[in-house]
Amino acid sequence: MKSDIKALEQRVVSALADNHNLEHPLYDVLDELWQYNQNQWSRIEQMIRVSDSYQDMILQREKTLGERFDKHLRQLEKITRISDRYQTALREANLELEQASYIDALTGLPNRRKMLRRLKTEFEMRPESLCLAMIDIDHFKRINDEFGHLMGDDVLVSVGNLIEHTVGELGHIARWGGEEFLVIFSQAGQLEVERCLEQLAKVIREARFDSGEGISIRTTISIGKSHYQTGDTIDALITRADNALYQAKNSGRDRVVFG
Ligand code: GH3
Ligand code: MG
Ligand code: MG
Repeated sequence: MKSDIKALEQRVVSALADNHNLEHPLYDVLDELWQYNQNQWSRIEQMIRVSDSYQDMILQREKTLGERFDKHLRQLEKITRISDRYQTALREANLELEQASYIDALTGLPNRRKMLRRLKTEFEMRPESLCLAMIDIDHFKRINDEFGHLMGDDVLVSVGNLIEHTVGELGHIARWGGEEFLVIFSQAGQLEVERCLEQLAKVIREARFDSGEGISIRTTISIGKSHYQTGDTIDALITRADNALYQAKNSGRDRVVFG
C-alpha cells in the first residue's frame, strides 16, 4: 500500500513536470492538489517533530526529578546516620559522666553521692545488719600547714588506700568529704566490725608517709561507729556515727567509739 502511494506520487510529479500536460484542463487542479498535499505533509512532519521534542522534554524532566529525589534521599540517609552516631556518642558520654559523678577525683574512691545510693539500697534490703563507721583524720590541718596542701593530698590518698585495704571484703568505703571517710558494713557481725575498726586505727597509727624531705609523716584517725536499731532512718544511723566520732575526738582522738 505504501509503495503504491510512492508510485502514485512519482506519477503525479512526472505528470506535473511534463510540459505536454501544461495545457491539460486538469493540470492546475492537480498542481494545486499536489501543493496542498505537500503542505499537509510538512505540517504533519512538523507536528511529529514537536511531539518528539515534547516527549524528550518530559523524559528529561522525569529523569532530573528522579535524580533530585535520589540525591535528597541520600542526604537524608547521611543525616540519619550522623544523627545515630551522635546519639550513641552522647549516650556514651552521659554514661561516662554519670560514672564520673560517683567517683571522688582525688582518691578515686566512691564519693558521698554514691555512698548515699548504696546506703539507700542496703537499708531497703537488710537494715538489721547495717553498721556505719565515720572516720576522720586527726589534726589533718597541721599536715597541710606543715608540709603543704599537695603533701596533704598525698596523705589523704594513702589513708584512703589503707582503709580500703584493711576493710577489704568486709565493707564498702567512700570519701565522705574533706578528710572524712565512711565505711558501710552490711553483712558483718558486730564483733567482726569492732575488731576491724580497732585494726584500722592501729594500721594508720603505725603508718609512715614519706614527705619527700627526709621526714616521715605520721597521723591518726578517730572513728565513730553506729549500728542499726529498730525504727532507724538512714539519717539517724549517720547522725549516731557522727556523734560517736565527736566523742572519739573529745576523748583524745586516735580511737574508736562504738555508738
Ligand atoms: P580534727 O582532729 O578535729 O579533725 O582536726 P582537723 O585539723 O583534721 O580538722 P579541721 O576540720 O580543723 O580541718 C580539716 C582540714 O582538712 C582543713 C582542710 O583544709 C583539710 N582538707 C579538706 N579536704 C582536703 C583535701 O582534699 N586536700 C587537702 N590537702 N586538705 C584537705
Ligand atoms: Mg580531721
Ligand atoms: Mg573533718
